[in-house]
Amino acid sequence: MNLSAPIEKLARVGPQYQKKLKRLGIKTVGQLLFHFPHRYEDFSDIIAISEIKSGKTASIRGKILEIKNLRTFRKRLTLTQALVGDDSGTIRVVWFNQPYLINTLKKGDFIFLAGKLNQKGEGRYLSSPVYEKITPEQKTQLAKKEANFALTHTGRLVPVYPGTEGLSSRWLRFIIKPLLFNLKNKIPDSIPRKIIEKHKLLPFQKAIWQIHFPDSIKLAEKARERFSFEELFNLALFILKEKMELAKEKARVIPLDIELIKNFTNNLPFRLTDDQRKAAWQILKDLEKSRPMNRLLEGDVGSGKTIVAAIASLNAIKAGFQVVIMAPTEILAKQHFKTFLELFKKYKLNVGLITGREVKLKNKKISRKKVLEKAEKGEVDIIIGTHALISSPTKNNFGKQDKIKFANLALVIIDEQHRFGVEQRARLCRNKNRRTKTIPHFLSMTATPIPRTLSLTIYGDLDLSLIKELPRGRKKIITKIVYPKERKTTYNFIRKQAKKGRQTFVICPRIEPSDKKNAKNGLWAEVKAVKEEHEKLSKEIFPDLKVAMLHGKMKNEEKEKIMKCFKGRKTDILVSTSVVEVGVDIPNATIMVIEGADKFGLAQLHQFRGRVGRRKEQSFCFLFTEYPAGKTQQRLRALINCESGFELAEKDLKIRGPGDFLGQKQWGIPDLTMNSLRNVSLVEKTREAAKEILNEDAELKKYPLLREKLEEFQKKTHFE
Ligand code: ADP
Ligand code: MG
Repeated sequence: MNLSAPIEKLARVGPQYQKKLKRLGIKTVGQLLFHFPHRYEDFSDIIAISEIKSGKTASIRGKILEIKNLRTFRKRLTLTQALVGDDSGTIRVVWFNQPYLINTLKKGDFIFLAGKLNQKGEGRYLSSPVYEKITPEQKTQLAKKEANFALTHTGRLVPVYPGTEGLSSRWLRFIIKPLLFNLKNKIPDSIPRKIIEKHKLLPFQKAIWQIHFPDSIKLAEKARERFSFEELFNLALFILKEKMELAKEKARVIPLDIELIKNFTNNLPFRLTDDQRKAAWQILKDLEKSRPMNRLLEGDVGSGKTIVAAIASLNAIKAGFQVVIMAPTEILAKQHFKTFLELFKKYKLNVGLITGREVKLKNKKISRKKVLEKAEKGEVDIIIGTHALISSPTKNNFGKQDKIKFANLALVIIDEQHRFGVEQRARLCRNKNRRTKTIPHFLSMTATPIPRTLSLTIYGDLDLSLIKELPRGRKKIITKIVYPKERKTTYNFIRKQAKKGRQTFVICPRIEPSDKKNAKNGLWAEVKAVKEEHEKLSKEIFPDLKVAMLHGKMKNEEKEKIMKCFKGRKTDILVSTSVVEVGVDIPNATIMVIEGADKFGLAQLHQFRGRVGRRKEQSFCFLFTEYPAGKTQQRLRALINCESGFELAEKDLKIRGPGDFLGQKQWGIPDLTMNSLRNVSLVEKTREAAKEILNEDAELKKYPLLREKLEEFQKKTHFE
């Protein structure tokens, strides 16, 4: 038995339970062991029966003096009633609707019980207590004062497991405990000895036992800390290793053509902001080096990052190289495609588009195969696409995925890069040219400000360019929280604005599927929400206006038509799921309505708001919510007071922590890590530890387990 053994190997886990475990994403013994409790029930204080007090949870031990099933006619329940006694007295015990209990618990058995005392008139009884029958073997252990080994469900700190979908904590304890015995001393510790000692961490063996069956809350915390340390340590190793690999690589030198860039920017319909200029300059300077650029361009929504990307691209293309831009959504990829076609019109460049559903070269449709051929021959200058760029849904005749190859790729740009996993980024950025032995320069862009500790840990030391100022002449967006009773006024306001020719987005609330299986249902529920909202708005509230809708289940052409109509001002209101979240540019829209605003993270709300306010006209953002008090309001208030995403990031970090701010799922890192990332000092410690190990042994030759872990981690961080 080892950690990677499938759960089917476990004798005690039948097919029904296998299914349930898999629904929780637990497929291996290791994953089962790493399904940690989220809290503990403290049943460790064992008292005499005579000391039991009403309303309090009590743990007792005793002998079953009597046990029988009774039927109550009034409520049609089966009662299992027992009398349990110890040296100090007896107590009545009642369980409801568990008639099979009398098959396990027999007169004369020794048991531990933990539960609440109920008192009705004269009658005192323990109501549905947790029970644990003591075997002779356990009895000897208990006599030797080994309660922590002997007991599982009572008389100790008892683990309670999270979100278990028909898997009770009792069942999990029943499965996990023997497993821990079974694997005792068989799983080597992957954290090097000296790191364990230096940082006073619990060794694996002790930690895995203590996190499930702790001797004390303090030890449970120490155990948790060890596993957080381990995950962050692995993450830090991975990032540092990547960085070391990257440092060995060479990139193409792209000379800066000042005249070209001046000419290009002078012909734009606007003046670049100082921050845009500075960012572009930093990037162009990086591209002149033979060391691959690794730069993050961070700028609030609407700050104009696209044009900076265009400047870098143009310079690279005109120097004879190819460029790739990857965006997280189809809509965004197409928008970039159009923008770039327009921007580069007079340069006669070959701009290509590759998404899962559409492939184009300039304005013509073309097959994916053709474009790939042309890219390989160097006949395409720039390809813009979604992740379909790197993973084709269709396999070619040889059963291989047709991988994208370039004659001369020198620059990779990833927009809204937090949407992509480490691996996806790596696949494009490490695209090594066989002939020149170079890898492309890498620019990533994001509107989501990343706290320094996070970016260090997740991306290593990448260089940062900031665009802090927004283009001139934009007014602050007026943001308002709208409670149900103020809806009518808000709708009237929207109507008035529409009569003036202004347009409105209405975002429907996100619907979280409760588990993976339901992810699809979640999408359908969102579609339903959009349809219902559209129906309500178009028929009841705005019969006089033109209301359109947009959702993920629509055909591509349909989506495009709707966006086109909206952009061309043929519709007044667009009801949509969160697909408009990133990047969509409709300058004439001035109102953003967000239904169920409390269901979104602040960063996301800020992104939505950034869809409006792109012209001189006053824009508005209405946050619809039904919860007038508490944390919700505190969070939404933060949006009213803060204009900048940077400030918001800090605030949200304080209110909710990074997981919520960034959206757990968007990072492609496991949850425990996400939570541990809050702990700044732990992040720093693990980075130091990882450095220490890599300085000593960069290839991890002395640490085969770590190496294995690292590979495993690479797989885990893979975006779904
Ligand atoms: P983001 O940083 O969110 O990606 P975009 O690049 O989409 O922002 O730019 C938002 C809008 O601002 C676009 O319509 C773009 O043409 C416009 N824009 C960009 N830079 C400037 C500028 N310096 N002055 C005026 N408008 C600008
Ligand atoms: Mg953008």
